[in-house]
Amino acid sequence: MQDYIDIDNKNRQFQSLLEDSPLAVYTSDQHGHLTFFNQAAVQIWGVIPVLAEDLWLGPWKIYYPDGRPMGLKESPMARALFHEERSENEEVMLQRPDNSFRRLLAFCLPTYTPDQEFCGTYNTFVDITAKTSYETKQSVLSAIVESSDDAIISKDLNGIISSWNQGAQRIFGYTEAETIGKPVSILIPKQRLQEEDNILSQIRQGNKVKHFETIRVTKTGKLIPISLTVSPVKDMSGKIIGASKIARDITEQVEAQAAIKRNAQNLELLNSIGKVILQKLEVKEVLQQVTDITTKITGAAFGAFFYNTFNDNGEAFMLFTLSGAPREAFESLGMPRHTDLFKPTFSHREVIRVDDITKDSRYGKNAPMAGMPNGHLDVKSYLAVPVVSTSGEVIGGLLFGHPQAGRFKAEHEDLVESIASQAAIALDNSKLFEEVTAMSDKKDEFIALASHELKTPLTTIKGYLQLLSKKEQDRVNALFLDKTLDQVAKLNALVADLLDVSKIEAGKLQFNLEHFDLRLILKEVMETFPYTYKSHKIIFHDQFEPAFVYADKQRIEQVINNLLTNAIKYSPNADLVEVSVDRNPDTVTVRVKDYGVGLKEEHKRKIFTRFYRAEGVENISGLGIGLHLTKEIIDRHKGEIGVESKFGKGSEFYFSLPAHKF
Ligand code: ADP
Repeated sequence: MQDYIDIDNKNRQFQSLLEDSPLAVYTSDQHGHLTFFNQAAVQIWGVIPVLAEDLWLGPWKIYYPDGRPMGLKESPMARALFHEERSENEEVMLQRPDNSFRRLLAFCLPTYTPDQEFCGTYNTFVDITAKTSYETKQSVLSAIVESSDDAIISKDLNGIISSWNQGAQRIFGYTEAETIGKPVSILIPKQRLQEEDNILSQIRQGNKVKHFETIRVTKTGKLIPISLTVSPVKDMSGKIIGASKIARDITEQVEAQAAIKRNAQNLELLNSIGKVILQKLEVKEVLQQVTDITTKITGAAFGAFFYNTFNDNGEAFMLFTLSGAPREAFESLGMPRHTDLFKPTFSHREVIRVDDITKDSRYGKNAPMAGMPNGHLDVKSYLAVPVVSTSGEVIGGLLFGHPQAGRFKAEHEDLVESIASQAAIALDNSKLFEEVTAMSDKKDEFIALASHELKTPLTTIKGYLQLLSKKEQDRVNALFLDKTLDQVAKLNALVADLLDVSKIEAGKLQFNLEHFDLRLILKEVMETFPYTYKSHKIIFHDQFEPAFVYADKQRIEQVINNLLTNAIKYSPNADLVEVSVDRNPDTVTVRVKDYGVGLKEEHKRKIFTRFYRAEGVENISGLGIGLHLTKEIIDRHKGEIGVESKFGKGSEFYFSLPAHKF
């Protein structure tokens, strides 16, 4: 390369110095042809140009530092060549043949002959690519650190703070100036100082502390929950020189978790109140539970349910249930009235929530108390939720109080409202239930009274008829008397059944237990039937084996009678009834089978309830109490009763009693 340049020895020495220079150097003649370049220049260009042939720039592209393309003529090299302009420290960006970029500081000088004639250029470049990318990285990193929401703090191995970002200032309240050089322990609550020793000892061992959830203290002394990640910071040689610490304020997460927990607990409470409401029909009990649970859910100091009642002075409330305070605390004070404060809840079905009742405009306006009466529990926070029945009537209100202001929140309103609406349904139901039971009690009373009243004249009629039938009668009169006596017997049976039903309801059906052979009783009862019921034949599938039971003989007779009568009554188009008795070691079972109207599936179970008659039997007389009585009798003997039936084909009723074992 040196061959192309005409130089003397001294120049040679300089040239070889330039050859080895870490700075990129090249020279050109006055036309721009390269007259010299060194290795460092080749490194920057990425190609080896041909001396004296290639021009100073070759095929390259050149840019301003901000990335805008620079016209070749505007470059400092061109300006030195064409305008003899000197430039120093001018930053340019070079795009190399492989499309990679180099950032350069250019120093371009025009050169002159000893006669001061322009003869070319002398160009030096410093490659600053690596430095700028490091600086860019640094500035990006510090921008990230600064803009982070998290507190990013570094400290030395003694726990002295060495850097402090905006996030740290936001979370802890201290400025950078207030913390640099201070121990990190200013952020740690006293009782947790030990934590810092543990963290530092982990760091010294080169370990990271990840997502450590703890409490730190702010400049104002507020305790906040944070999640800490602390990592060791190493110097170039790998020696641990400190720690970087990222602290995330997790107040929201902690609150969200607490809210989830609270909600879960509230759900449990709601669930339990739902169960109470479903299971209990006792008004007082439901309301007490509702008051207790809502008081708990709202965190109230006390809660109460007031009934909306009317008294001689107009509308008034009656304290019904109370939670969190003794009854005396209220009862001595007189009940609240329809003042401006209570009216919205009790008259207009509105929820009222007040943070500080003593400051409310509606408070203290009413004589004679002008506010809470003396001795009233201290109340600032106040919440009142109406309990509204399905018909829209305000049954009452749930009232809550707390001596501190601002205790009740919107979520409490919602919870109490939903419980109040469930409670209202329960109250509606219980009212209905009370009405129904009251009606049903009246009916029972009537049946008991009526059957009793009917019994006396019937007995008298029967007596007179029997007396008459003993006298000499002509055939027609005798027949009429017989028929009348039959009807009287039926009436008597009916009245007796009615009386039994009312005894069942009153729990007064008595039993006289004895040992007897059920087979014999069955035969006896069956034998009486042909006299009364001539239409049907009763066949007994006799096994000629005794079937002993321990039962009330008369009641069991009543049962058999009932089943046989029904079998005949409900098979008007048939003429056969079959009866059997089976004995096995534990039970004795009697079956009565007919070929009559049968039963639809949906009626099979219901026919054993009081006054129930299957549809389609309206033209057959009956009250629907025989099977109810029958079942009651069998149940009371710890037996079983049931029916198998096909609609239109016939039925088989059976009952079994525990067999008597000798
Ligand atoms: P009653 O016969 O007075 O109506 P019961 O209590 O004896 O009252 O019977 C209740 C209902 O059961 C009857 O109304 C009838 O619908 C049905 N039932 C009872 N026995 C039979 C039977 N053997 N076949 C079909 N239906 C019957």
